[in-house]
Amino acid sequence: MFHTSFIEINRSALKSNLRFLKRLTGPDVRFCSVVKGNAYGHGIEHFVPLAEECGVDIFGVHSADEALRTHLVKKKKGTHVMIMGMIDDDALSWAVENDVSFYVFEFERLSAAVYAAKKQNRKARIHVELETGMNRIGFSWEDREKLADFLVRNLDHLEIMGVSTHFAGAESIANYLRIQNQIANYNRYQGYLRKKGARAQLRHTACSAPLIAYPHTKMDMVRVGILQYGFWPSKETYMQYLTQSERKRMTDNPLRQLISWKSKIMSIKNVPAGEFVGYGTVYQTTDDTLIAAIPVGYCHGFSRSLSNLGKVLIHGRRVPVIGMVNMNMMIADVSHCPGVKRGDEVVIVGSQRNNRITVSSFSDMTNDVNYETLVRLPREIPRHIIE
Ligand SMILES: *Cc1c(COP(=O)(O)O)cnc(C)c1O
Repeated sequence: MFHTSFIEINRSALKSNLRFLKRLTGPDVRFCSVVKGNAYGHGIEHFVPLAEECGVDIFGVHSADEALRTHLVKKKKGTHVMIMGMIDDDALSWAVENDVSFYVFEFERLSAAVYAAKKQNRKARIHVELETGMNRIGFSWEDREKLADFLVRNLDHLEIMGVSTHFAGAESIANYLRIQNQIANYNRYQGYLRKKGARAQLRHTACSAPLIAYPHTKMDMVRVGILQYGFWPSKETYMQYLTQSERKRMTDNPLRQLISWKSKIMSIKNVPAGEFVGYGTVYQTTDDTLIAAIPVGYCHGFSRSLSNLGKVLIHGRRVPVIGMVNMNMMIADVSHCPGVKRGDEVVIVGSQRNNRITVSSFSDMTNDVNYETLVRLPREIPRHIIE
């Protein structure tokens, strides 16, 4: 292989996660699969066709470039792409022409959408994003009259596919009141627009955490990212799920992680007791030590903060990463792996024999969230689908 590591994406794990999510949402709620951040590191080009095969027909992305990538790899004609964040005015024509829907959260973009629709002589499909208390982007309650007027006047050029909002941290119970207020604000605003004749096909507010913690936020569509990849948004969310469901044990996790990340040993050598390993004085051997060099470093997404802290699987054992994680290499102590040799498999994330390293075991050690660890995986690492 040309690359120093590779990523596997497990098809049956995705199938099983999507089945679980469908049971949660019920049959009448649309499911939008969120694939921003290169499908949370899984790779848009690999994930999108796979999810389509499993029945997904709406994908949510952040920006026009991700929408283009998704649009280019989707296999089914009926599959829809929705941009939830940034699209420049000069990309709006492309979106309208290709039936890609997009969020609008200010009047400038709303006017630009109408302009693009007239130019293309077809309706722009929009999602009106409401400010409900996250204080990030969205139309404020004060804008309501002007917004309703504008929408109603331009219904020949606009198809209001959705009215949406986003919650400010539903994965933590600390935000309970704020979320409750957001739900109330959303309902009031959405109700106002509807009464004025600016009726949306889909009311959508929930991402992964609210789907579990505030199930009535499901409405007409959910926008799910992290759960479909097999991760809980937070431990709290998982505990909430366990208390609601008939599953009561921590080992009953209904989600399966899709991703594995593997490499192989590039070199093995002995280091006598009392020597420093790698840069500086970060690690000193106490005994004669057998070390393995692994050609994966922080440029590949293995965080430098895992220096002297990370673990990888070799011969089914969890072995420690010793010394600093370098830009493209790290060192593991393999003194307790009899018969270990150059070329042996190294599992950075995933299973080997009876042992397993999860992405969250990284995140726990460095205080990173799963989201961040995943999206740090570079696009260049080859991805393979496995059954
Ligand atoms: C990222 C994102 C989602 C998905 O979030 P998850 O927590 O991964 O489910 C949904 N909606 C919007 C607007 C987002 O930006």
